[in-house]
Amino acid sequence: MSIYEKYHLKKVLNASGRMTILGVSTPRKEVTQAVTLGLNEYFEMKDLIDKTGQYIAKLLNAENAVVVSCASAGIVQSVAALIVKDDQDLLYNLHSSNKYVPREIIVPKGHNVNFGAPIGTMVSLGGGIVVEAGYANECKPEHIEAMINSDTAAILYVKSHHCVQKSMLSVAEALSVAKKHALPLIVDAAAEEDLQTYYQQGADIVIYSGAKAIEGPTSGLVVGRHQAIEWVKKQSNGIGRPMKVGKESILGLTKAIELYMSEPINETGQQMIEKMTPFITSLNKLNGVSAKVVWDGAGRDIARAEISFDKNTIGKTANDIVKLMKEGDTAIYFREYKVNEGKVDADVRSVSAAQLDVIYQKIKMIIQQ
Ligand SMILES: *Cc1c(COP(=O)(O)O)cnc(C)c1O
Repeated sequence: MSIYEKYHLKKVLNASGRMTILGVSTPRKEVTQAVTLGLNEYFEMKDLIDKTGQYIAKLLNAENAVVVSCASAGIVQSVAALIVKDDQDLLYNLHSSNKYVPREIIVPKGHNVNFGAPIGTMVSLGGGIVVEAGYANECKPEHIEAMINSDTAAILYVKSHHCVQKSMLSVAEALSVAKKHALPLIVDAAAEEDLQTYYQQGADIVIYSGAKAIEGPTSGLVVGRHQAIEWVKKQSNGIGRPMKVGKESILGLTKAIELYMSEPINETGQQMIEKMTPFITSLNKLNGVSAKVVWDGAGRDIARAEISFDKNTIGKTANDIVKLMKEGDTAIYFREYKVNEGKVDADVRSVSAAQLDVIYQKIKMIIQQ
């Protein structure tokens, strides 16, 4: 009996990308083997954390790194780390101590997003106070600078398709403001593919989600300056404890990073286009449907099929179609961010050409019903 039968679960065709609601990714065999090895052995955990961190840091040409339970936990513990530093009272009593230390975390307003949970909640959990800089549609270096005062603990930059992209300062610009005021910069690069650029540009702490681009187990990576990462690690005796990372995830992510850096699995955008071209051609023959290639809004090398549904021709809205695609034995998921505009995006990284045909057949059936 399959686990789908045993627990009465639906099968999933994931044309939405690296999504937490679907389990993010399916790591390759070498990674699952490292996870199994981790489960089957004991380790001196401090040593395991320190030495895998050093190994990852060396791979990425960085000073220091640590594996955490997920990127969100990385944000929380990084904020806490830069507030607490070495203070033992604050480590144990982050939220109840009334000792004065800078706690304000400046975030461009257009970066204060909901990635599945709110950025602001992560900052609060880490003992920080969110201070928004700029406007919903604009943030310039001077907007960040205007919010800096003696209570500022750090600047947080969220590099993500979730964020407002237009009229936003770059990481490099945020960095020059941070350096000018001797403040640390945290970059949330959870779903980004480049594990080195933000560190190399000078960020103190850069955070990645282990199961997104890297295709590791559920985990997170925090890479950065030596001292900052040591402060992040200290949080495991404070607010970090309910975010404990297991030995299996530490070894699984370390292996996944090693593989990611040596033999990238990621298809190029061009390969994605080749895979989706027959799918797009077929969709364009359906009455009321049009499809085309679009590039990732955050500038990553990811091409997707943007599918528009004309509700007047079809008699159903994109929202109706998205719901119907999830019904039946196999639920099919698209990216739904533009569904209010009558469009969905199909991300082809986790689906084969044959599965794209299954998706096409289901769309055809739904619109012809
Ligand atoms: C996915 C994501 C996160 C959270 O990552 P987890 O590993 O799921 O905790 C945080 N920030 C951004 C921008 C994300 O895309």
